[in-house]
Amino acid sequence: MLEIYNSLTRLKETFKPLHEGHVGMYVCGPTVYGDAHLGHARPAITFDILYRYLQYLGYKVRYVRNITDVGHLEHDADEGEDKIAKKARLEQLEPMEVVQYYTNRYHRDMAALNVLPPSIEPHASGHIIEQIAFVQKILDRGYAYVSNGSVYMDVEKYAKDFPYGKLSGRNLNDIVTETRELDGQAEKKHSYDFALWKKASPEHIMHWPSPWSEGFPGWHMECSTMGTKYLGEQFDIHGGGLDLIFPHHEAEIAQSCAALGHESVHYWMHNNMITIAGKKMGKSYNNFITLEQFFSGKHELLSKPFGPMVIRFFILQAHYRSTVDFSSEALKAAEKGLQRMQEAYARLLKIQPSAATNVEVSGLRDKCQEAMDDDLNTPFVIAALFDSAKAINTVWDGKGTISEADLKELREVWKTYAIDILGLRLEEQGGGDEKMKAFHGAIDLLLGIRLQAKQNKDWATSDKIRNELTALGFQIKDTKDGFEWSI
Ligand code: ZN
Repeated sequence: MLEIYNSLTRLKETFKPLHEGHVGMYVCGPTVYGDAHLGHARPAITFDILYRYLQYLGYKVRYVRNITDVGHLEHDADEGEDKIAKKARLEQLEPMEVVQYYTNRYHRDMAALNVLPPSIEPHASGHIIEQIAFVQKILDRGYAYVSNGSVYMDVEKYAKDFPYGKLSGRNLNDIVTETRELDGQAEKKHSYDFALWKKASPEHIMHWPSPWSEGFPGWHMECSTMGTKYLGEQFDIHGGGLDLIFPHHEAEIAQSCAALGHESVHYWMHNNMITIAGKKMGKSYNNFITLEQFFSGKHELLSKPFGPMVIRFFILQAHYRSTVDFSSEALKAAEKGLQRMQEAYARLLKIQPSAATNVEVSGLRDKCQEAMDDDLNTPFVIAALFDSAKAINTVWDGKGTISEADLKELREVWKTYAIDILGLRLEEQGGGDEKMKAFHGAIDLLLGIRLQAKQNKDWATSDKIRNELTALGFQIKDTKDGFEWSI
């Protein structure tokens, strides 16, 4: 049996991939029956950071993130109406129209957050045959039973041979008390048995033929099946939100051990949850804020719109294993932090080298790498970059100097850690693509004319440019060398 780890405590020293130089990584992706919200952004960004950093360390990474489009039900994994089927029924759409619509929107939101697409993005509905074969293996090995056309995991039998509940630290008694009484329980030997295959009720519109009934796979089955299909019977990393440890990931472990005789996952990683003003996100609190609402500012809990980079920066300011409490105030603070970073980066690209360095810039690369190796400590990376921003600002203000070699190193470290690994689009302020460059050039030109007007005491022109740019949302600051602006 694999030795399993919970998190990557000291990445560089303790992480040992199963195949040298290669990493297989599976992350539970979204259920596509609604728009992505803050709770979707956190795992996507957390594992995006891991994906980027592993590649930076030189690994060839195969990153699989699934689309759940069948089997994840309204009330729990076993019972109730499929969320996608329900949406399709209510809106008179083909279920796959619902899936495609929300998948497209998920991709759009992830691109806005600068989350890289995974290597493979399999759909549960595209892997029904493989899921049926996986269920059959569990039946063949005697760890499941058929009841009224559905197939259930025989948890009691399984727990005699394997340690059920070890990932979540639960035992069967805990699980009995947690299991709600729902219809369908009568079919099971025990309340803690979970569905591997469910017979579809007549009104259920998403169903497939199987040896046991016309039906659909249980929710946990897709990840066991697609993880091992694309990454092998054993693979390195499996991630997801903390709320998935039980029952989802515990069930995945049980399915793998039951079907294959061993565990599949070497390292489990779970990001912690986001709360909103101290409360869990939930329908009853009316505090589900979609990413689109953040970007547009259209939600009663938001005082203004927040750009995708502010959301990303806000999430990265906390360690992935800590909870993050959201509020408009916290996001405003994150926005200020991000602006300071963007400003420092723009200055870093503009400052000129001198013969020697008299500001503190040494050791930044080591500090950043040390922090990333320490279980992806992104808040420490951000703190180290802020420390170096002080040195950048000192040079910018003419109160310090930096040598050519130190400047080159500083630029490289910022590019590597802030832009490539943290994935922050800092260049949005300082120009990036050609359009942005032209735009920045035009604003600089206008402000240059204003500066000239001021020097000529032509206050009418100077004020007109300033006032009209301000009205358009620009912030203009006069400095001793000229001006600075931001939007
Ligand atoms: Zn999953």
